[in-house]
Amino acid sequence: MPSKLSIDQTHKLLDEVLASSPLEECHTCECFLGYLTRLELDAEQDLQALFSPYKPDKAFIHSCLGCDPCPPADAFASYLKAKNLIDPASL
Ligand SMILES: [Zn+2]
Ligand SMILES: [Zn+2]
Repeated sequence: MPSKLSIDQTHKLLDEVLASSPLEECHTCECFLGYLTRLELDAEQDLQALFSPYKPDKAFIHSCLGCDPCPPADAFASYLKAKNLIDPASL
């Protein structure tokens, strides 16, 4: 049984990743986009309206600039790790 993210959890995760990514470049980085796509898949319902403001314009999307660390990549990794350890439904 797949566990889904609530709207509140999704909002929190998105705000956290933006807060931890000071460089605007990281908001259009494919790492951020990968994370966004994953959260969208894991959300309990269709949250198009929630996600669309965060989605970068396709024209601006670029591969990772090699920021070390890249905050969205880090957030994505820890999200996946947490997901394997704890059921988000129990948070
Ligand atoms: Zn980056
Ligand atoms: Zn990156």
